[in-house]
Amino acid sequence: MSDEIETFAFQAEIAQLMSLIINTFYSNKEIFLRELISNASDALDKIRYESLTDASKLEGQKDLYIKLIPDVDAKTLTIIDSGIGMTKADMINNLGTIAKSGTKAFMEALQAGADISMIGQFGVGFYSAYLVADKVVVTSKHNDDEQYIWESSAGGSFTIKTDSGEPMGRGTKIVLHMKEDQCEYIEEKKIKEIVKKHSQFIGYPIKLLVQKEREKEVSDDEAEVEEPKEGEEPKIEDVGEDADAEKSTEKKTKKIKEKYTEDEELNKTKPIWTRSPDDISNEEYGEFYKSLTNDWEDHLAVKHFSVEGQLEFRALLFIPKRAPFDLFENKKSKNNIKLYVRRVFIMDNCEDIIPEYLNFVRGVVDSEDLPLNISREMLQQNKILKVIRKNIVKKVMDVIEEISEDKDNYKKFYEQFGKNIKLGIHEDSTNRKKLAGHLRFYTSASGDEMCSLGDYVSRMKETQKDVYYITGESKEVVATSSFVERLKKRGLEVVYMTEPIDEYVVQQLKEFDGKNLVSVTKEGLELPEDEEEKKKREEDVKKFEPLCKVMKDILDKKVEKVVVSSRLVSSPCCIVTSQYGWTANMERIMKAQALRDTSTMGYMAAKKHLEINPDHSIVENLRVRAEADKNDKSVKDLVMLLFETSLLSSGFSLEDPMVHAMRIHRMIKLGLGIDEEDNEAEAAADDMDMPPLEGDAEDASRMEEVD
Ligand code: ADP
Ligand code: MG
Repeated sequence: MSDEIETFAFQAEIAQLMSLIINTFYSNKEIFLRELISNASDALDKIRYESLTDASKLEGQKDLYIKLIPDVDAKTLTIIDSGIGMTKADMINNLGTIAKSGTKAFMEALQAGADISMIGQFGVGFYSAYLVADKVVVTSKHNDDEQYIWESSAGGSFTIKTDSGEPMGRGTKIVLHMKEDQCEYIEEKKIKEIVKKHSQFIGYPIKLLVQKEREKEVSDDEAEVEEPKEGEEPKIEDVGEDADAEKSTEKKTKKIKEKYTEDEELNKTKPIWTRSPDDISNEEYGEFYKSLTNDWEDHLAVKHFSVEGQLEFRALLFIPKRAPFDLFENKKSKNNIKLYVRRVFIMDNCEDIIPEYLNFVRGVVDSEDLPLNISREMLQQNKILKVIRKNIVKKVMDVIEEISEDKDNYKKFYEQFGKNIKLGIHEDSTNRKKLAGHLRFYTSASGDEMCSLGDYVSRMKETQKDVYYITGESKEVVATSSFVERLKKRGLEVVYMTEPIDEYVVQQLKEFDGKNLVSVTKEGLELPEDEEEKKKREEDVKKFEPLCKVMKDILDKKVEKVVVSSRLVSSPCCIVTSQYGWTANMERIMKAQALRDTSTMGYMAAKKHLEINPDHSIVENLRVRAEADKNDKSVKDLVMLLFETSLLSSGFSLEDPMVHAMRIHRMIKLGLGIDEEDNEAEAAADDMDMPPLEGDAEDASRMEEVD
């Protein structure tokens, strides 16, 4: 049984990725070592974390290390770690059968010109082994399983078998059988160079097995019987007769050169965050950032600080240049701060160390005060952690402020992390004001560049009290909407909020710099007006009051009220929503959410107010007709039509588009002078499409259609 070899096919996308890695011409192959060392380090992190709450987990192998063994004769490079190891199932799943979202994303990125060295960010770094090796053999031992061997020479499949060889205790050993032309990576010098370049900041000792030579004096006869000592493999070479030997001793001795091997630690540097910021160059920060994050580019900004006093900790925080491809993909909140306690790594993704909206910040925090054996659960209520968190947030606010001082840099930052700022406004009431200052929007006056709300305020007219905004699907849609019309005409600037999250932002923000944020699509919009304008509006209201009443009666429950508008120029009417309900845009967003709770649709759904434009000829014509005959059928029909078109132009969707279409068709026929009765076939077809005559009260509006 134990000798049985099982063969598995690589998942299709992984197989594709592997052949891409093998066949793409690419010269910077050395990154394979960075990836394998990074995996080893991750595996060590995991066992260290498990051991915090259960020390016995370390029993199989107490030392935590990474070891590199080059073998020039066998043309192999072996990477060993005493990390958590993999069970048989882990190997099958993680090394070949379950594709991650990054598999495809990485191939697409490559096609778009990305560099292979970006592989780590996409979570498929392991396969970079095939840049240099034509066969990879992974032996692994996890506490919960036997020792297994995974092996593959690519080509679409891998094998797994139990390992009856030497037990490893715990951990993973990866043997790379190097391609003929990649043997330079077995050279000591090359390995040292690569480790220094890419992995010097790994938090576990990386030991390289190096070949050494020493001179040794031995007696003639001894030289022949020399036994290799444990852990060393001396090879003895005769270096010739020692000239002085005869004179000094009676017994003949020889000086021989002895070859032996030794572990050499390659990453002895102190953890960078424990050093003084004054002594650290930006290159060093960059190297550390890259080794921490697998990023291939330097960071955008860095904050290195320590807090002393009642509580002591050091932190090194980075703002990346780009958001990772899956920043908002994972539902569970994840962050990228590594927690250390007195230089010992404790855990990744430490919850509560930084709020979710700052999940793009990468870095390390090293506390002097937390206990070493702290678990995730214990951290949740920990007071020390709360203080650390508060300080971190403060420093991140500082660093964002610093970035914002350079306009171009801030633009880059905002493109990548603007959503996070908005999320912060929603979540973090303490920093809401600060964050609001960092928002950027297009406005009706900003042109091609986004501007801040501060810029807006500085441009406000003297008589203007509020900041006007509109939410909608895109810049193009809102810029041409009838709501913005009047304000633009009066020289008032309107902020365009076109991301779904903006709806949530304004709900929380409500004001900026003491000015209310006022939606131009909601009821009660009061534009600054002079005496004359005020007088005209009051007259209009009086004049159109009867029409408003007639319209409200016709539309009934479809609208809350019908009022005379002061925000329209060229449209006859528009639909505005009540102060506290959803906007049309919000209704669109909520309808698009597949898993929404339908019950909220009822009471949150936008409360609609119809506003009519007193200066519009259609409205004036309607007024005259309605005054002449309250029950004029054409008035009813026109009001329905106007209502439905305003729904559309105000950003709502129609509940029953067919009915609207038929109304339009009737209008077209009327326009073309086609008599309904002339065309019986069509009329009959129309009838079939129409709702039945006898309906319940809700069908009243449809019934008007057919009578
Ligand atoms: P990532 O490291 O981003 O998860 P990789 O392709 O580098 O992606 O590795 C895939 C997975 O294989 C890892 O998530 C881990 O589960 C497993 N793995 C790789 N190397 C090791 C190792 N040395 N020890 C334990 N598990 C490993
Ligand atoms: Mg990896």
